[in-house]
Amino acid sequence: MTDAFAAAVLRWFDEHGRKHLPWQKNITPYRVWLSEIMLQQTQVTTVIPYFERFTEAFPSVQDLAAAPIDDVLHLWTGLGYYARARNLHKCAQRVVSEHGGEFPDTVAQLAELPGIGESTAGAIVSIAFKKHAAILDGNVKRVLARYHAIEGWPGHTTTLKNLWQKARLHTPERRCNHYTQAMMDLGAMLCTRTRPACDVCPVGDGCVARATGQQLAYPGKKPKKEKPVKTTYLLMLRSPVGELLLQQRPSTGIWGGLWSFPELALGANVSSYCSDHYAAPQWVEYWDSYRHTFSHYHLDITPVLVQLGDTPHSVMEAGGALWYNVRQPENVGLAAPVKRLLESLAELDPLSQETL
Ligand code: SF4
Repeated sequence: MTDAFAAAVLRWFDEHGRKHLPWQKNITPYRVWLSEIMLQQTQVTTVIPYFERFTEAFPSVQDLAAAPIDDVLHLWTGLGYYARARNLHKCAQRVVSEHGGEFPDTVAQLAELPGIGESTAGAIVSIAFKKHAAILDGNVKRVLARYHAIEGWPGHTTTLKNLWQKARLHTPERRCNHYTQAMMDLGAMLCTRTRPACDVCPVGDGCVARATGQQLAYPGKKPKKEKPVKTTYLLMLRSPVGELLLQQRPSTGIWGGLWSFPELALGANVSSYCSDHYAAPQWVEYWDSYRHTFSHYHLDITPVLVQLGDTPHSVMEAGGALWYNVRQPENVGLAAPVKRLLESLAELDPLSQETL
């Protein structure tokens, strides 16, 4: 049965669909498969010259299977996602060794082969074998998610199931090959990622996203991973003459090679730590915490101003440390939060205990 959606898509295809692409001439399972793999994540205009060079060098699946992998990779150069080329070669060898050089004609069997997912298998079955099979590539996901206002990121199982269900619902028994091509064209030519041409879309009247003006909300974006939160004290150790102790960080890791305040685990006893490692504090002042965000985590920093009774000269002997005078700053690389804290400290009376 052909529903109203599929009928409108097919009518549009008859008038506007692409019918003269190189893989639409002399259609064979091998050529359809090759084009489908090349078209994954890649635009038609980029694929055309590669397809032509490939089919000239390897006219059949047997030629491709027998070719050295280096020749295949060489011809693939510039097309990107090289795992596709390796799988392509492996797949050709499996078709020859396990299927007598003939591509199988069912989705289940095709999807067993390297590099062929369910959607690519559906495209091969419908276009090359002219049998009924649904596809759900990136273009089709976008069209269906918008048309039906299917929420959620298509990478989520529930959303994906929903989209497959709609894809199967609309895929017609008759002219399935044309419908498959039409849906790919519709997504690539009209229902584009950022500027869908809804006014000339054949299914525009029934499209929920268009009706609500929410086209760009579909398909849902991949959820951002919550960054973990780490915490630390930054110890601003101040000498009796008002200088601050900075240490150079290791060359790898955060703030690599930059100068920073000593760190201490949040909640540790600051006074006894300072007494053990530097000198006994005269007083300790906890400043308000704030968040510094790195690409992989948030760091909640609690600065602690520690006024030392003595200057612990021993820390200089180990190297990688300096006493920093905020009024005559040294020309050293500073971690961004440290720079901010030093600026705040410069505004304070050098030896006062004053909360910002
Ligand atoms: S009406 Fe617009 S958003 Fe809806 S399917 Fe067509 S092009 Fe896409």
